[in-house]
Amino acid sequence: MNMGNCAVVGINWGDEGKGRMVDLLTENYDYVVRYQGGGNAGHTVINDKGRFALHLLPSGVFRPGTVNVLGSGVALDPENLFAEIDDLNARGVSITPDNLKISKRASLLMPWHRELDALEEARLGDRKYGSTKQGIAPFYSDKYAKKTVLAGELFYSDALETHLRELMNWKNLVLSGVYGAAPCSFEMLLEWKTRFCDRLKPYLCDTEELLMNAQAQGRPILFEAQLGALRDLDFGIFPYTTSSNTLAAYAPIGSGCPGVKIDEVVGVIKAYSTCVGEGPFVSEMFGDDAALLRQAGAEYGAKTGRPRRVGAFDVVATRYGVRMQQATQAALTKLDVLSCMDAIPVCVRYTVDGQTTDRFPFPAALERAKPVLEHFPGWREDISAARAWDDLPAQAQAYVTFIEKEIGCPIRYISVGAQRGSIIIR
Ligand code: GDP
Ligand code: MG
Repeated sequence: MNMGNCAVVGINWGDEGKGRMVDLLTENYDYVVRYQGGGNAGHTVINDKGRFALHLLPSGVFRPGTVNVLGSGVALDPENLFAEIDDLNARGVSITPDNLKISKRASLLMPWHRELDALEEARLGDRKYGSTKQGIAPFYSDKYAKKTVLAGELFYSDALETHLRELMNWKNLVLSGVYGAAPCSFEMLLEWKTRFCDRLKPYLCDTEELLMNAQAQGRPILFEAQLGALRDLDFGIFPYTTSSNTLAAYAPIGSGCPGVKIDEVVGVIKAYSTCVGEGPFVSEMFGDDAALLRQAGAEYGAKTGRPRRVGAFDVVATRYGVRMQQATQAALTKLDVLSCMDAIPVCVRYTVDGQTTDRFPFPAALERAKPVLEHFPGWREDISAARAWDDLPAQAQAYVTFIEKEIGCPIRYISVGAQRGSIIIR
């Protein structure tokens, strides 16, 4: 099955099962690229090698021969990256400069980014963003302010020391002047560079050239996104978004092949809704129903262990996500989880200030949106062994067909379990 260049992206608030889908689809790809976001991701993959939660590494690392790439758009946190690499190597998944290539143009996430993230969340108190405190927002702010170090600067050590010292002096003004925190010392910074950053060197390359050459040889690329459309910085539920672009449209830039054409966009959609952290969540469920669903779906963050907020499938938000991603096909995941419910709620429209709408509201109006729910009959049987459309009970087929019609995108994959093979391909 050759799909050409393919982006696997989230349609909702993240945690849709992208890692699971990338792990499945990488069978057909020699190149898998993460193009945005950082080590705050939790992409769960369960395969013959075990159960893994990947944070920054692309989910192609389990396939021998696959080249995994971290593009210039990622938040490159060397300390966490090597913790992840060491962990995988210890578990028999080999990560070497042969199967991991990192863009020289990726910016380094500095030790102070994590600290500033925590300081700002603490300052906000009740009004916090719900950050994973991995330093992502301060990192991207600094990148856009041109106050980061590019990984490739590690090859220019004299200039790098000067650059680091300048950035540190500036950042210490913020740390102590704004937050009253302890300043960073240059010794500490050099130790961080020696322990973690210098280890990056064998992995660094011009990913632009690597990927453009791959394209010239007719070898397709799989682009792996973090989070989902509703967390996109420009088009999501601002300010409860992440600080990068989660959309497929950003993949060519964040990977290092700006002119590449993406042939297919696989939009990963969860069969119900979940949302980690703060922000408006129109179809949220509470009480016993929520507890049942959270339990059945094991909805606890892969990175943080936080219980995820759960809700009914949201047609309005999902249709918007499909459109923003320009998904050409959808993967509906965790359908098996809905076996726990007698009646399955679906949010089909919103009302905002008494007006009914099927359009996803502007962020400032989203807090006031209320869900209009319809209920679908449940099937109440274990569907995790289904491998073909006809194996699904009629109620489950009706549910999938309804969603497909409402979101305007063919559902090509239906996932009924976390394992690689627990999939129905239509
Ligand atoms: P990602 O961040 O989009 O990669 O998704 P996560 O890995 O954070 O969350 C998805 C969770 O659901 C993981 O624990 C997966 O192992 C699990 N999962 C994925 N697909 C299915 C499925 O079809 N059924 C069930 N029961 N679990 C699934
Ligand atoms: Mg996740």
